[in-house]
Amino acid sequence: MTYAKHSAICPVCKGNGYLIKKQNIFSVWNWTWKYSKTVDCKMCHNQGEIEYEEPKIVPFSGSSSCPHN
Ligand SMILES: [Zn+2]
Repeated sequence: MTYAKHSAICPVCKGNGYLIKKQNIFSVWNWTWKYSKTVDCKMCHNQGEIEYEEPKIVPFSGSSSCPHN
């Protein structure tokens, strides 16, 4: 059996490799002081894409995102 390696854009960070978390520190009327920070994407370990070997395909949330189907 040959193990074909595929890479796919990480569905969590959408290829960025990190996530931006926004927090509202406080808001007065319609003015909001926002604070954003980048967090490591644990899904792809900051790679922006995930590699998987063909026999280990795990579908993401039920819908198949594999382009080889
Ligand atoms: Zn990611």
